[in-house]
Amino acid sequence: MLYNKTMDLFGEVREIQGVGPKTSTALNKYGFFTVKDLIYYFPRSYEDYKKTTKITDLTPGKVMIKGKIKNLKTQYTRRRNFNITTGEIYDETGVVKAIWYNQPYRAKTFKEDKTYFFTGNFEFKYNKYQLTSPTTVMAEEIEETDHEDSGFQPIYPAKGSYKSIWFKRLFENLRNEIAKVPDLLPTVKTGTRADALFNIHFPNNFDDVESAKKYLAYEEIFELILASKLNKNENSKLKAEVLKFNAENTKELVGSLPFKLTNAQRLAAWDILKDLEKETPMNRLLQGDVGSGKTVVSALAIYQCFKSKKQAALLAPTAILATQHAKTLKTLLEPLGVKVELLISATKKKDELKKRIKNGEVDVVVGTHAIITDDTIFKDLAFAIIDEQHRFGVMQRQKLLLKTGDKSTAPWDAESRRLTAPHLLAMTATPIPRSLQLTIFGDLNVSTISELPKGRTPIKTKILNEIQMKDELYPVLNEKIKQREQIYWICKLIEETGRSEAANVKKEADKLKIKFPKAKVEFLHGKMKPDEKDEIMKRFSDGKIDILVSTTVVEVGVDVPNATQIVIMDAESFGLAQLHQLRGRVGRGTKPSSCFLITNGDTPPSKRLEELEKSTDGFHLAEVDLKLRGPGEIYGQLQHGAMNLKIASLTDTKTISKAQKDVSLFLQNKDNMLKYEELMREIKKYQQLTTLN
Ligand code: ADP
Ligand code: MG
Repeated sequence: MLYNKTMDLFGEVREIQGVGPKTSTALNKYGFFTVKDLIYYFPRSYEDYKKTTKITDLTPGKVMIKGKIKNLKTQYTRRRNFNITTGEIYDETGVVKAIWYNQPYRAKTFKEDKTYFFTGNFEFKYNKYQLTSPTTVMAEEIEETDHEDSGFQPIYPAKGSYKSIWFKRLFENLRNEIAKVPDLLPTVKTGTRADALFNIHFPNNFDDVESAKKYLAYEEIFELILASKLNKNENSKLKAEVLKFNAENTKELVGSLPFKLTNAQRLAAWDILKDLEKETPMNRLLQGDVGSGKTVVSALAIYQCFKSKKQAALLAPTAILATQHAKTLKTLLEPLGVKVELLISATKKKDELKKRIKNGEVDVVVGTHAIITDDTIFKDLAFAIIDEQHRFGVMQRQKLLLKTGDKSTAPWDAESRRLTAPHLLAMTATPIPRSLQLTIFGDLNVSTISELPKGRTPIKTKILNEIQMKDELYPVLNEKIKQREQIYWICKLIEETGRSEAANVKKEADKLKIKFPKAKVEFLHGKMKPDEKDEIMKRFSDGKIDILVSTTVVEVGVDVPNATQIVIMDAESFGLAQLHQLRGRVGRGTKPSSCFLITNGDTPPSKRLEELEKSTDGFHLAEVDLKLRGPGEIYGQLQHGAMNLKIASLTDTKTISKAQKDVSLFLQNKDNMLKYEELMREIKKYQQLTTLN
């Protein structure tokens, strides 16, 4: 065996016994670089292979049978356009029919002389009992790695051609090493991690798994909290421009608004305006449901920056949204002498504009995130706002630092001996659940706009299947079109059919033109040129289009108050947060609005859609989403590289508060940072991702 004492967790995978050059290349492709990456690859589930049922004793429900299979056949049914594979599973007590739909390869994968475990649903169908779509595993494979003969076995998610059994064999080789993995955290008993990792890979029962998960969740949460605290410390070492609050100036802008600010807007603005006065850069998240009025709050902050004679930038995820923000800010701020400019790829005379930005002739630059990666240089950028993007990593912040001067390194403030950085405000309509605020986003200050402006009528949401559309959707829409209200029609990006996004949207638009002959139907998709998109959006915004067919490019932020209806095709293919965002495109005016979620097929709607039908509260939905899918799925980028979040449920507030205390203790001793090398190495990776700064 390669590792005799304690193993080098950061050794490369090819150093592991049984991993040759070819395998190591493949493993690298799947994101396994170090021994640690592999050891932290956890089973998807566990199966107790002692819990089998004899065929004579079967009762309906989920069952596991140990037996052989014969008479395998695959038939194609033309009428229903799919393949059916059948076979007969038998043991010493009897025979039962197994059936798989559209899995023709099944028939070829079995060996008739081998014994398998079949796990599936035993049910009465088409006048007969059958085992439906069982998953199978060869008995030999199970017995091969079953040391205690307990029958309790992990099942690893497959990676390409590396199936569960491959991982099992690999871990089998590392069994002794895993049992001796060195400690990671200072706050637990010696050997706790080794026990946990051993129990996750080689458990005898569910109790083993549970105790292992408990420790691993704690470890993960500890790391997240430590990373975010360190980020906070790092932020506090930076120097920002002091942008003084002035009540008169703020009143001037507030007084020019066509509406009264909501109380929630006032409170959020207050937090932000106070932050701007500080010497350390603001690192704040402004969260407020769609339509809660975040833009105007950002305008107040920008105005404060302007009054200190410094530049501000507002970054949006799409050109459409940037265009709209530029328009809004121009309306609000130009009468007060603020020079606002839009910088997107379609902007004409870009070089000239960039020169003016560099000379300080432009006060506010509105653009897409691309601004931070291109060669735009500011004279004195003191404040950056990032709209609708959760993750804004350290790297991006570094880039922003470079924007504040024509230098290759971030500007250095000699007097305070600190690097200078702009204040950062991130805005989002996808609220961050409380538990994530305490862990991953712990370094952020959060302000929440918890109320919508008065006079908004709640959006009605309805789930319909394609058949119901004729009676329950088309008449409604016809009526709305007559009243000159406008409609968004969202279709999914279908990539797998090979049809392009453009063709798909166009086809849908053509269908609608026939269905609604009196309506002006136009379409929009991501492949269009930016000015083409803007042109269509402008026409929609001006009320010249009745139905706008599009992909999710209208997802964020676009504000057309006269658009009151939104139809979302293939609703099941979108995530909860995304659906809520899309729905927020309507309900922005005073007229009642509706959202129609269209499902295909006749399967009952998912829990996700039902929740959406019941609630319009983004905060509630974010919590539901977290429960249903887990944080990794929701905050997609968290999964990149370092971020596991496989174990921590992040709804466990007890573990979170214990980890918070332990991290504080850990940080009190400066030596710890040097002593816990592996931990600090891990944290570095997390730090890149766990912050907005
Ligand atoms: P979001 O928070 O989703 O970014 P916006 O900033 O786009 O929302 O605001 C949505 C709409 O609400 C805009 O048309 C804006 O002018 C309007 N609005 C913002 N604040 C108020 C308010 N206090 N009263 C009435 N309307 C408001
Ligand atoms: Mg917005």
